Amino acid sequence: MSTLRFKALETLAFKSYRNDNAVEIPSKLSELFCKNVFSEDTMREYLTKEAFTSIMDAIKKGSKMPRPIADQVAVAMKDWAMAKGVTHYTHWFQPLTGATAEKHDSFFTPIENGKAIERFSGNLLIQQEPDASSFPNGGIRNTFEARGYTAWDPTSPAFIMGTTLCIPSIFISYTGETLDYKAPLLRSLQSVDKAATDVMQYFDKNVTKVTPTLGWEQEYFLVDSALYQSRPDLVLTGKTLLGHSPAKGQQLDDHYFGSIPTRVMNFMKELEIECMKLGIPVTTRHNEVAPNQFEMAPMFEEANVAVDHNSLLMDVMARIAHKHHFHVLLHEKPFAGVNGSGKHNNWSLSTDTGENLLSPGKNPKKNLQFLTFFINTIKAVNEYADLLRAGIASANNDHRLGANEAPPAIISVFIGSQLYSVLSELEKVTEGKLSPDEKTDLKLNVVGKIPEILLDNTDRNRTSPFAFTGNKFEIRAVGSSANCAETMTIMNAIAAKQLRDFKAEVDALVETGLKKDEAIFNVLREYIKQSKNIMFEGDGYSEDWAIEAEKRGLSNLKTTPEALKREMDKKFTDLYEELEIFTHREIEARNEIKLEKYSTTIDIEARVLADIARNHIIPSALNYQNRLIENVKGLKEIFGETEFKELAKEQMHLIKNISGNVSAIKLGVEALLEARETAHAIENGQERATYFCEKVKTLFEVIRTPSDDLEMMVDDELWPLTKYRELLFTR
Ligand code: ADP
Ligand code: MG
Repeated sequence: MSTLRFKALETLAFKSYRNDNAVEIPSKLSELFCKNVFSEDTMREYLTKEAFTSIMDAIKKGSKMPRPIADQVAVAMKDWAMAKGVTHYTHWFQPLTGATAEKHDSFFTPIENGKAIERFSGNLLIQQEPDASSFPNGGIRNTFEARGYTAWDPTSPAFIMGTTLCIPSIFISYTGETLDYKAPLLRSLQSVDKAATDVMQYFDKNVTKVTPTLGWEQEYFLVDSALYQSRPDLVLTGKTLLGHSPAKGQQLDDHYFGSIPTRVMNFMKELEIECMKLGIPVTTRHNEVAPNQFEMAPMFEEANVAVDHNSLLMDVMARIAHKHHFHVLLHEKPFAGVNGSGKHNNWSLSTDTGENLLSPGKNPKKNLQFLTFFINTIKAVNEYADLLRAGIASANNDHRLGANEAPPAIISVFIGSQLYSVLSELEKVTEGKLSPDEKTDLKLNVVGKIPEILLDNTDRNRTSPFAFTGNKFEIRAVGSSANCAETMTIMNAIAAKQLRDFKAEVDALVETGLKKDEAIFNVLREYIKQSKNIMFEGDGYSEDWAIEAEKRGLSNLKTTPEALKREMDKKFTDLYEELEIFTHREIEARNEIKLEKYSTTIDIEARVLADIARNHIIPSALNYQNRLIENVKGLKEIFGETEFKELAKEQMHLIKNISGNVSAIKLGVEALLEARETAHAIENGQERATYFCEKVKTLFEVIRTPSDDLEMMVDDELWPLTKYRELLFTR
């Protein structure tokens, strides 16, 4: 008897009817906002005027903070935190493991004469040395070299989790190489700030800073903790490696935007309360397409803070889910045949004068500004589509991209038919100087019409990986478990490079005697022509698109190893080096880390699958087969040789069928284990990942198919693994 599954189901039935974790949302959520954040208001209250000005300069202009001021800030942080019951502090950072990291130190400091005080200094605030030799570093920092250190990032506010003060930090090696997601993100923010501010001088000289904004939408599944524990594959790999699809799936579309179950609602409410206190401005919650799948989204924020908030949310979610006896699945594809989870990254650029640069304005001048940033972004994606693709590549996301439910692995840009026709008009702009008539026509009939167009532009293409949605671009192919920083770094970098080039081209034309507007129209016209291929308005899920995309010369990098190979193209490494976001060594190290992570993920899945197949599936199948054999023997005994054959026909058929499937599994497992061995012997990271992809992963299906067939044959009572219908339809 497969006890774990049934014990889990029993406790679940008990739990799901109780409402002992009922959560009430205070009527004024806003009063909780930033309660646990060392926010601007808190700083104003706790710091001297001098210190406050200094930290604001550090945040807004990136200026260096004098040490005595850092001491003041540290003491203020400590006093504020201790008043809220905090005893420890930690540098909170985002290493390349994908999780967040922290090492808690106490404020408690013994002094002479057996006394002790609570102490926190500027030194400790600014820098920490985590014992971090086991974080991924792609060979940059072997154990004999100097250690890495974390450094305070004052642009993201400190916050309290439990009884710990968390100080957002970056993580670098002593030789200066970045070892995390945040440091390159900060560099990319500087690049795009500089490039976009320069371009903005054509339109508005008051702009002195441009900041990317990010609004993420986080999809996730919730599974009952007891059921989760009963599935070794979920526990060890975050996804189910086996399991027959349920009779009812998402065919009825009855989950999406449906009413939220009580237990889930309590989880969501508590999560929202916690988010509010941490300053994460969550505003949206709803069911997603698949059963037991949900989504959460905040108001957009400056990209740096938004990235931290998403990482923080993923942590907080897991903890709060526990309290409600749920486990959060952030895996991109936890269930075969059921929609996977993504994380849409909405990206735009905003100025220190309060303008959204991807939002059309009220007059033709503002709209030319909009078109400039809009078209430059499209051009940037056209030039660097493969880099964007590589940035979202992971073993998990491979299951999603191109699986007819998520954007395909082909990067294209959707802008809606009306904006598309505006671009087609602009494509016809005369070369060189424009006649007064043409200028008027452009102003009135093309550029001038944009706001009206967007008002009723409700075009939504859910199949596009990169879609313009009225005042921002939505990057829809990012994986649900990914750190947003990587995609944001790429977006900022490619936009920065593109805007730099644009500025140079416009300036060159102005030198030849063209007016500024004429020069801009001339350059944009060429960009539109060059970027035509990446723009696609049709169904991204269709077979036809893959064929059409190939004709257009667009890449279709279907797997992570392919995408990561492309990532090392000189064009991309040059970009990073030119913008000083990564050194060549860092690019190589990161690429290697990602390849290694890919191979390891597939390797673990292979081992777990082999274990479950051999130790759970085969024994259960044989157990049931024995029962059948007993039954057949019994029939023979009672009815005799001739009559029993007719009576035991079905059983005999099943017995044979079970044997067939069992041997198919056995052969599959042997082949799988052998392929693993071969993969391990491959030295080169790229080749190893490719082997895992092409020769190891492909065997999963060979084992899964007969196993899922057995699930349909074996007595439900003997089946050891919690079934899809139980995982997906009990809440
Ligand atoms: P949908 O599900 O249709 O994509 P949502 O309202 O769920 O729409 O998500 C829209 C997301 O876009 C939100 O997270 C929102 O904060 C974000 N967003 C809106 N304006 C901007 C902007 N200027 N920059 C970045 N993100 C933005
Ligand atoms: Mg969306």
